[in-house]
Amino acid sequence: MDDELERLINTLLDGEIRCYDCHTPLDIQANELERQSEHVYTTRYNCPGDGCSIEYDVQVEDEGLTLHFEANERGANRPDKPADMTQVSRKEPLQKKSHPVRKLTDASKELTNAFAILQHNHRRLQEAHETIEKEGFDQDTDFHLRVRADIHNYTASAYSFEEIVGKNVEPHIPSDGPIENAKNEFDEEHEVVKALRTYAQHHLALPSSFVHFFDGDEGEITITVPMDDLDDFRPGDPEASFDLIEGDHIDVVDRVNRHYEAAEKLVATMLKVAEEKYEEQIEEYREATRFPEMTKE
Ligand SMILES: [Zn+2]
Repeated sequence: MDDELERLINTLLDGEIRCYDCHTPLDIQANELERQSEHVYTTRYNCPGDGCSIEYDVQVEDEGLTLHFEANERGANRPDKPADMTQVSRKEPLQKKSHPVRKLTDASKELTNAFAILQHNHRRLQEAHETIEKEGFDQDTDFHLRVRADIHNYTASAYSFEEIVGKNVEPHIPSDGPIENAKNEFDEEHEVVKALRTYAQHHLALPSSFVHFFDGDEGEITITVPMDDLDDFRPGDPEASFDLIEGDHIDVVDRVNRHYEAAEKLVATMLKVAEEKYEEQIEEYREATRFPEMTKE
């Protein structure tokens, strides 16, 4: 059988078919089936259920638009109610479930969702920054608590974002060229944000002053964390982590902005590369998963 048929049959059989008698899932693989005629594939299969002795004659027939599956109880003396099963599935939903670019389109959705959360939290921190720029840093306790929570939320969403990139997106796209560059830039920025995350997690529960407002050289007011305070929260290689930082304070707003921009660039690059690489398959996927038009009689 060809690759596509094998993929569809495996999707049809994947965890869906259970023994009629003991309900144990039947683990039948398409490559175990033997071709009987042009469109018919069969095998014998013993139910793997504990204490279940049912043997099945399994048959899958490719009927063009549908796959027809049957499993019939074997034996010379079949009971009155044999453990026979039959299932007919249209191919489109199986295509949707099994097509190789499906993983990628799912991953792209996850990536853009994760980025939307990052964007939201980035916006909140920017608003806090605008407030102190306009009104100065003499703010009430609520404001301090909120900024603390905003930093925590940004760094937490940055953590989820990085996980989704690594686990769900990277395995499905090429890792060289423009993506490699965008990823390196992102990783550099992410290292600092990771340290801020562990620091923010730790300090969210503390009554101490987490947010330090700092008058920069040009009278700029921003939200900072002293480098000395961060020493205990350095991720990965402590020497390499903060190489980018100059001075004895980390400008949180600046680091978050830089991280956000690197993430934005990474997402744009990944989606662009994915679309270019899989252009044909994406089109083919759309075709394969589209139900044929109903014809009027
Ligand atoms: Zn069974």
